Parts: sequence; C-alpha cells; structure tokens
Amino acid sequence: MPQSNPNPAFGAHLMAYAGIPSFMRLPVSRELDGVDVAILGVPYDSGAASWRSGTRFGPRQIRANSLQLWGYNRLLDVDPLAVLRAVDYGDVEVEPTSIAVTSERITAVTAEILATNTHVIALGGDHSITYSLLKAHAAHYGPLAVVHFDSHTDTYQRVGHLEHGTPFLLALEEGLIDKTAYVQVGIRGPMEEPTDLEDARGLGANVLTIEECFEMGMTAVNQHIHHLIGQRPTYVSLDIDAVDPAFAPGTGTPEVGGLSSFQILQLVRGLAGLKLVGFDLVEVSPPYDHADITSILAANLVFEFLSLLASARQKAVPHQ
Ligand code: MN
Ligand code: MN
Repeated sequence: MPQSNPNPAFGAHLMAYAGIPSFMRLPVSRELDGVDVAILGVPYDSGAASWRSGTRFGPRQIRANSLQLWGYNRLLDVDPLAVLRAVDYGDVEVEPTSIAVTSERITAVTAEILATNTHVIALGGDHSITYSLLKAHAAHYGPLAVVHFDSHTDTYQRVGHLEHGTPFLLALEEGLIDKTAYVQVGIRGPMEEPTDLEDARGLGANVLTIEECFEMGMTAVNQHIHHLIGQRPTYVSLDIDAVDPAFAPGTGTPEVGGLSSFQILQLVRGLAGLKLVGFDLVEVSPPYDHADITSILAANLVFEFLSLLASARQKAVPHQ
C-alpha cells in the first residue's frame, strides 16, 4: 500500500467544522512527487455570459462542505484517500477581466500537474474553464473521449468566442475531443434555436436528452456511455445544472426537469471501468444556493471522482 496522505492540513483529528478547509482536509501542496491526484480550484466566473454569475465562490464552498465527507465509499468498496496520494493544489490565479489570460493560466497550471503524471480534479468556476482544461489534457493524452453532464450543449455557434456556452464548440473545432467518443447527458430546456441539438450532433456530440435518459433509465445510460467510449482516455466534465434545480439551485443557468441528486450519483458511479484521466465539476454558484445543498452535492460528486480513480488503481494493483 502506498503511504497515503501524510500531513493532512492541520489535523485530520479535528471536528468537521474546525480548522482550515482544504478539500477533505488534504495537504495543501504543490509538491507533486509521488502524488496521484491534485484538486485544483478555478474560481473564475467572467465566462458566465448568459445569466447569473457567482461561481467564483464555488471552489471555496465545495471545499468547506467536503469536510463533512467520511472517507469510505461503500458502493465502490474503496477508501480513496487510503489508496491514492492526493493534495489540494490550491487555485489557479485567475484574471477576472481577461478570459484569454485566465484560459492560458488554467492550461499552464494543468499542464504542469499532468507533466508529473498526476490527475487533475478541477473545481469551477463557470463552464468556460473546461476548454482550457481540455487543452492541457489533450496535449498530454491526445484527443479525449468526453462524458459531459449538462442541461446545455455548450456548443452554441452564434457566439464563436470562449465563454461558458462554447467550451465544447471550441474544443471540438480544435480537435481536443475524439468526436467518435463524446457524449452529452441530460440536455434539456427551451433551446435558443430549433437547430441547437442538430448543431451539437453535427459537431460530433452523441447527445442524450433528459427525456432519453429517463426513458432508458440510468443503468442503460451508463451502458450506452461504456459502449460508445470503451477504453479510450476519458475526461469527465460535470456541469451541476445537469441536476434539477430542486436538488442544485445554486447555479448560474438552472433548467427545470433534470436529474435528481441520486441519479447523478448513479451516473457518475456507473463510469467505473472507463479509463478516466481527468475531471471537472463546474457551475456551482453559492450566492444562489440554499442551505449549501448544491455545494454538498458537488463535494460528494468530487468524492465519487476520487473513488473512481482509487477503484481503478485498486483493481490494477490489488492490495493484500
Ligand atoms: Mn455547461
Ligand atoms: Mn449548463
């Protein structure tokens, strides 16, 4: 077994409400020697062009609510922080008045981390950050299979430049995504144009609308994802607005009629067995949240991401 996570940030013995909230009390460190996973905050919301912002407060609130997570994942039968060496890498230094500068910094920091063969789990921030994260991942792994949970396609062609409605348009145009293995899950809501879905499909997205998801059931959705992607290196981008605003109200562009918190957990757990290389969780906007329910869900989903990586590791190198 690897020596896991020495030096938790000022004491794992503290009560959940005490101390300084790194993600799950992980050591706050930029030392990546022997580290498997880095949690990376990206507190940027100037890409939230379409409606309300506030996701700059996402990383901090997700970290704060991660302190109430216990360590063992019963369903995947894994204690992720006992299997993986993980750190909280802190935040990207964003530039709120320049998406171009911010994007370059996100890509540079992510590339630095990936160069040490450490996985990144990014906490947004609005969805524009995914383009910059994908850029670094594609440079490291080649074009990626992508599982994209969202109520929006984020391939809106009318805009053309980077903001939170276009990260996948730009990533597809630049060849960062393997078009034969890109699936969108949970798409719904009033569209901007009658052609929104056709446009996304024309660009290479395998779109599963929320109606299709509910008709198929979550198990079949996961089978569809596995069938489409197989064992290609896979990036997971989770926009919290894939979840119904009844379960995740703290977000920039809520769309009614979405997944429950249980269903998104099912879908994320169902990714076990894919070759997962990177993750982001975006669009959590604490100023619009109630009782932290969105941040609590987000923290739990990040715990599932860690569990997926740990479970893959455990299977590759079974411990005694
Ligand atoms: Mn999105
Ligand atoms: Mn969205």
